[in-house]
Amino acid sequence: MRKDGTFIAVEVEDSAAADAAFAQKLTEVCPVDIFAQEPDGSLRIVDGNLDECVLCRLCIDADRDPAHPAVKVLKLYDAGALLV
Ligand code: SF4
Repeated sequence: MRKDGTFIAVEVEDSAAADAAFAQKLTEVCPVDIFAQEPDGSLRIVDGNLDECVLCRLCIDADRDPAHPAVKVLKLYDAGALLV
């Protein structure tokens, strides 16, 4: 799944987004509430908060397998550069 704001886009691999435990972790770590959970526990990206991203990387550090990142934060204001 991917959601685009004006300045920031967030992309989360579909299998990771369907993982309720991972969705809960992302929901807990993001300081500006870009992540939430659907009633079934799966991930929801909160469109209205995307541009509040403070580039803290906490969602990236929370990734399940750093060798195969499931979460990408893209800086649309910088030609879509990936936050690393
Ligand atoms: S980088 Fe920080 S503020 Fe941005 S989506 Fe990830 S956890 Fe939220």
